[in-house]
Amino acid sequence: MGLLYLGTPLTWEDVEKHADHVRFHGITQFLHTWDRLKDRHGDELLWGDEIEYMVVALDDEKKDARLSLRQTEILEKLSSIVGSISSDCPDSVSVPTFHPEYGRYMLESTPGSPYTGSIPDLLSVEANMRYRRALARKHLKPHEIPLTLTSYPRLGVPGPFTEPYFEPADAVSSHSLFLPEEITNPHVRFPTLTANIRQRRGSKVMINLPLYFDTNTPRPFIDPTIPWERSIYAEDPEAKAGAALPDHIYMDAMGFGMGCCCLQLTFQACHVADARRMYDGLVPIGPILLALTASSPIWRGYLADVDCRWNVIAGSVDDRTEEERGFKPLKNSRFQIPKSRYDSVDLYLSMDWMNRPEYNDNPLPYDECIYARLREHGLDDLLSKHVSHLFIRDPLVVFTETLDQDDETSSDHFENLQSTNWQTLRFKPPPPNSSIGWRVEFRSMEVQMTDYENAAFAVFVVLLSRAILSFNTNFYIPISKVDENMGRAQQRDAAQSGKFFFRKNVGSRRQSAASSAASSDCGSGCNSPVNGVPGKDKKMRNCFPDPPLPESGTNVLPVEEEYEEMTMNEIMNGKVGLQSEYNPRGSHFPKGDDFPGLLGLITVYLETLDISPDELTKIHNYLDLIRRRSNGSLLTPATWMRNFVRSHPAYKHDSVVSAEINYDLIVAVDEIERGVRKAEDLLPADYTGSQEDSGSIGM
Ligand code: ADP
Ligand code: MG
Ligand code: MG
Ligand code: MG
Ligand code: MG
Ligand code: MG
Repeated sequence: MGLLYLGTPLTWEDVEKHADHVRFHGITQFLHTWDRLKDRHGDELLWGDEIEYMVVALDDEKKDARLSLRQTEILEKLSSIVGSISSDCPDSVSVPTFHPEYGRYMLESTPGSPYTGSIPDLLSVEANMRYRRALARKHLKPHEIPLTLTSYPRLGVPGPFTEPYFEPADAVSSHSLFLPEEITNPHVRFPTLTANIRQRRGSKVMINLPLYFDTNTPRPFIDPTIPWERSIYAEDPEAKAGAALPDHIYMDAMGFGMGCCCLQLTFQACHVADARRMYDGLVPIGPILLALTASSPIWRGYLADVDCRWNVIAGSVDDRTEEERGFKPLKNSRFQIPKSRYDSVDLYLSMDWMNRPEYNDNPLPYDECIYARLREHGLDDLLSKHVSHLFIRDPLVVFTETLDQDDETSSDHFENLQSTNWQTLRFKPPPPNSSIGWRVEFRSMEVQMTDYENAAFAVFVVLLSRAILSFNTNFYIPISKVDENMGRAQQRDAAQSGKFFFRKNVGSRRQSAASSAASSDCGSGCNSPVNGVPGKDKKMRNCFPDPPLPESGTNVLPVEEEYEEMTMNEIMNGKVGLQSEYNPRGSHFPKGDDFPGLLGLITVYLETLDISPDELTKIHNYLDLIRRRSNGSLLTPATWMRNFVRSHPAYKHDSVVSAEINYDLIVAVDEIERGVRKAEDLLPADYTGSQEDSGSIGM
């Protein structure tokens, strides 16, 4: 999660005094990067995933499962073995890396070096993920397991939920009623982030998730597990004074959100313009894949009426003052800000003609001085707005030792703001002194319980991002509708019963447009594909022609007619009966009802690649999971967990997920992951768990 630097953190008062300094030099650093790399062309497709785990300690006698707070020791062991195993790793596989995360029970892993665009690399992702999990497992105690759960069901319940146990009374950073100080990674960055968010905001963070009302849940629901009368910290009375809503699950600390696990993917683009096209193409996909990966229906020991983490994590780092939130007129704060610094993106970035100004219809407070400075430097309107919008925030953690930096060789001040804008997509400029190019990070997905599923979603998004660039697909809808989809995506059972705004005609050319594509100027290393469709190629390439120009005189539909509400099945699998008529090689994509579905697009994209039948079968095996989850023949993890709780013999239909139910759920998830327990409503019948493969990972 961004920069880790060991130093002396400034107090919040001092951070405020230096905020303008950090912002000014952050922009200077960004401009140096821009000047150096704005014209850089020809970077290849490289990409990588990030997976976060929770380490859970099982007590099989007491039937209790707790979060193990041994992150520091485990990471030390993992980093010391990394040196010793690099010699047994075949050349094609580099040693994975493990990183600390916010929760002291969390680990993050990434492949040791990014994957290339080759099909064998794409097909190695699952083995790589399994290898990483096996490595982690090997360095745990026998009763500990590395689980990929998005939210821990009993985080913050009264009594012990961590191993060892700590009292929430000691939570000096968060002042939480529920989470002890020891829930947080001890690295000074994390407690400082926690405390500074609270201080900047002027109160504890406040999260209220609607409770799932079951047949025996009391109404109204006044949570008996909240210590309403505690008086240790100044903020303790907040809950009673209205912060904790009836009929909701109340949470009051950063750890509830940043203690969640997710699956993130980063893609390198050929050049900055392609990175901006890819970013825009993936913006509307964010909420769709949030709904389809939904995995977090249980919070603080209760079933929630939502299936996803998003609003919890957004609320958990919401450092906006009352003025910024619009509760008081602006006096000390500079802007009213509609969203938390963890939320969906507000602006499409591409300079492509398809990006009509009408799509950028969200309120967009931005720092006018920074905007003017960027424009004067020659940056275009959209990128200037993007950066000056990110920079309305204050830095949260500043170290005395790194206040003064060489702005030509460092990007730390830029990254300070960039990496604490936690949004659905992140546009990542190249770091200084590296060979890394312009990248886009896709950040909305919840982590899945098995690496088969995590790999399936990775394969899907990689191929979709290739199809977006290759066909120059047009997924634009007003960004305010993407935000409506974010809300809908989190609703209980959204993947099955929800509807989402989606564009009807995703072709890049209008029906009357001729098929002449502009010629490629991608520079060396890229063949010139014809009509935006690459020739048969062993690799998924990164560079495609610049998008075709709009035909003058063609009619432009009013924006509201370009999109409609679709089910998940329609978005993924296309409109029933029409998939087969889809032909992207014609001069235009079919319009209106001929929406091919995202899987339809990917299928056509795959036909442009030189893939063996065996490879194609393997890819379709992954895509099948996406297809089946979208059509309802497989459940989302959230629905599966909710069903598990509701059919547990000890469940009293009162929304409460007890320690016993939680233990059985954790054991079931682990057994499913290892393949010793079947869950055919969740996974394909032929899923073999990691256990069966652990001898043959061979890498
Ligand atoms: P962060 O936490 O800031 O998002 P991480 O280092 O945890 O960053 O993860 C970055 C991901 O990007 C990893 O999966 C890594 O393999 C991948 N990656 C590294 N270099 C490149 C590159 N040049 N292009 C695309 N992806 C890359
Ligand atoms: Mg992370
Ligand atoms: Mg990371
Ligand atoms: Mg990170
Ligand atoms: Mg995280
Ligand atoms: Mg990341």
